Amino acid sequence: MIFVTKPFLPNIADYNRLVTGIWERQYLTNNGPLVQELEGALKILFDAENVLFTSNGTISIQIALKSLNLSGSEIITTPFSYVATTSGIVWENCTPVFADISPTTFNIDPESIRKKITPKTKAILATHVFGNPCDIDAIDTIAKEHDLLVIYDAAHCFGTSYKNKSVMSYGDVSSISFHATKLFHTTEGGALICKSETLAADFSLKRNFGHAGFDRFDGVGINGKNSEFHAAMGLCNLPHVEAIIHDRQQTHLYYDKYLSGLPIRKQEIQAQTTRYNCAYYPLLFESQQTLLHIKKALEEQNIFTRRYFYPSLNSLNYVTEQSCPVSESVSERILCLPIYFDIGEATVQRICEIIHSNMYVEKN
Ligand SMILES: *Cc1c(COP(=O)(O)O)cnc(C)c1O
Repeated sequence: MIFVTKPFLPNIADYNRLVTGIWERQYLTNNGPLVQELEGALKILFDAENVLFTSNGTISIQIALKSLNLSGSEIITTPFSYVATTSGIVWENCTPVFADISPTTFNIDPESIRKKITPKTKAILATHVFGNPCDIDAIDTIAKEHDLLVIYDAAHCFGTSYKNKSVMSYGDVSSISFHATKLFHTTEGGALICKSETLAADFSLKRNFGHAGFDRFDGVGINGKNSEFHAAMGLCNLPHVEAIIHDRQQTHLYYDKYLSGLPIRKQEIQAQTTRYNCAYYPLLFESQQTLLHIKKALEEQNIFTRRYFYPSLNSLNYVTEQSCPVSESVSERILCLPIYFDIGEATVQRICEIIHSNMYVEKN
C-alpha cells in the first residue's frame, strides 16, 4: 500500500528520552518546558517575534479571527484550500466572500480580491496553497489601501521562505498546522505567528480559557493549548526538517523526470523570490475524466492519491453560492500524488508508469 503521505517518525530513543523527562517532572501540559523550548526554536525558524503553539491549525485560525474582533464582518478568502480555512470563518460568525484563484499559482488572485471588497470587509484570509507563497506584495498593497487585516493560512509552509525571510513573517497573522500529515508535525498541533506583542498576549489568553490568573478571566477563551508530549514529538522532528525538505525536492525531480511529455501541468512557483518546500506533488490534468481514470488505475495497484483540494470551497452547503470558475475548474482536475520521506525513485517511477499507460481515456 502506498498512501498520498506517510507521517515522519523520529528515532524512538530520542522521543523516549524526552518522555522520560516528562515523567520525572510530572508536568504534562499547560505551557510546560518542552512547549516553551519548541516555541523558542520555531521563533528562530519563522523569523518571528511571537510563536504560540496550539492544539491544531484550525483552532489557530479561529483564535486569530476571534482576537482580531472580526465577528459579523466579511472576510475575503480563497475557495482553493482545505475546508478548515472556510469553516473557521463561518464558525467565528464571519461571512466568507470568495475571490477566485490564479490559474497558474492556484493562490488567491489579488485582482479578484479587489472586486469583492465592500464596506463590510475587514480582513483577507489567504492560503499559501501547497507551500507556494501568495502574491504577498499585491495583497499587502490592497490591505493598506482599504485598511484590511491580512491573515495567512500557512498550514503547508514549514520551511518556505519569501524574499529571504520565512513566509510566516508576512501579514498580520500566520497560522500553521503541525498535523501528522504535514511536512513537519507534532502528531496534532499548530501555531499562531504574529509581530504584535498585544495580539500575541491576547492569543495566549484565548488559547487558555481566557485565564488572566488562577481566579481571573478576561474575555471568552477556549482550550487551544498543546501538551508536553506533542512538543516532544516536534522537538524530535525538528532536526530532521532539512533532510525531509531535501528528500521532497529530490522526489519532485523524480516525478518531473518520469512524467515528462504528458499533457499535465504543475503549480507555478515564483522561483526568484521563493524557497519552496516541495511539500506536495499536485498535478493538474486536462479533464476530470482523465483524473478519475488515473486515480482508479492507481488504486487498483494499491496506490492512493488524494483530491487536494476538492470540492472548491465556494460550493460548501453552508456558504452562500458564489461563482469561482477558475477554482472550480482547478479543483476538478487536480490530484496530489504520493510524497513522503524516503519514498524513493523506484516507487515514483512505478507510479509514473501507471500514469503513462492510463493517460488517454478510451472513447466508446
Ligand atoms: C491541515 C490544514 C488545516 C488544518 O490544520 P489542522 O492542524 O489539521 O487543524 C488548515 N488549513 C489548511 C490549508 C490545511 O492544509
